Amino acid sequence: GATIGILGGGQLGRMLSVAASRLGMKTHIFEPGENPPAGQVADRVTTAGYDDEAALRAFGEAVDVITYEFENIPTKALDILEELAPIRPNREALRISQDRAIEKGFIQSCGLNIAPHCAVSNALDLMVALETVGVPSILKTRTLGYDGKGQARLSSQEDAAAALEAVGNAPAILEGFVDFEREVSVIVARGVDGSVAFYDPGENVHKNGILATTTVPARLGENRQKAAKLAAQTIAEGLDYVGVMGVEMFVTASGLLVNEIAPRVHNSGHWTQNGCVIDQFEQHIRAIAGWPLGDGTRHSNVVMENLIGDDMDRVPELAADPANALHLYGKAEVKPGRKMGHVNRITGPAEDHS
Ligand code: ATP
Ligand code: MG
Ligand code: MG
Repeated sequence: GATIGILGGGQLGRMLSVAASRLGMKTHIFEPGENPPAGQVADRVTTAGYDDEAALRAFGEAVDVITYEFENIPTKALDILEELAPIRPNREALRISQDRAIEKGFIQSCGLNIAPHCAVSNALDLMVALETVGVPSILKTRTLGYDGKGQARLSSQEDAAAALEAVGNAPAILEGFVDFEREVSVIVARGVDGSVAFYDPGENVHKNGILATTTVPARLGENRQKAAKLAAQTIAEGLDYVGVMGVEMFVTASGLLVNEIAPRVHNSGHWTQNGCVIDQFEQHIRAIAGWPLGDGTRHSNVVMENLIGDDMDRVPELAADPANALHLYGKAEVKPGRKMGHVNRITGPAEDHS
């Protein structure tokens, strides 16, 4: 079997490794941190920084294809790696999703709707942005933000200075606050041959900026469900994408707004592990290895709940309920806000959606 190189050794890399292993493949993790969760299940781990050229080269030479579990891979590392093995999803998907301003522009260029926004790099820009975007709004750093980090809410013009300071005066976007009915995401997969497979949209609830639960089916009419899938497909095709991608959307009275894309397996797709025959992790491995895509049809209704920090104390109780499928990441240290695992609760057979 092929050897899959995975940049990043967190829980996503871990679950990708398990999926690759089930397909008879080997995995090789590249991760700067010691004892990464993925290291417990992968065939090989390189512990090195993204500035270690020799380590990057040895990794690239040892694998057949390179994928990743996070967006913020340094450009120089990618320059080295791309000479050695194909990087899937491609670098364009990374370039676009690394920067919210570029990402928003790209999504708009696909003909999809997004929240009003404006790029901001200083106090003067922010004043101008407040004229067009107004309040309430959210200042978000262009790069490196996740789990709601690097964001500050503005409820009046007077919040401007504090918001800039809260995001460390980093290049940012000011985004209009969306009064959404709900949040949904679509996990889409695209193969090397251009074939596309979808998972049903999941309905997401965030707490403190972190995903708390994903529920399928989402409360979304048939037309909006189709529109959500079409939006994800449009983005995947626009990027000539190969692999699994998550597309987050706001459902509003006037339609869907795309919030952001993640060029990788996505937390809101973890329900597929117990709701579908082929889950997002196997689907991603299939796609990047050039295999045919699997069937993403949902056979069960699922509520995925993230186990964050002290939620781990509930594991014995959760394990006692036979409807709960537990997925724990093997992280040694419990920290507040840290994703330690998730539970997929089967709530019944999927009703017919067609
Ligand atoms: P992720 O961990 O999903 O990558 P992130 O840090 O990149 O998160 P966003 O997805 O932009 O940040 O925002 C996190 C959450 O904050 C959203 O899922 C949503 O609940 C809320 N949010 C973000 N932008 C807006 C907005 N413009 N209007 C209303 N709520 C928003
Ligand atoms: Mg994000
Ligand atoms: Mg998000």
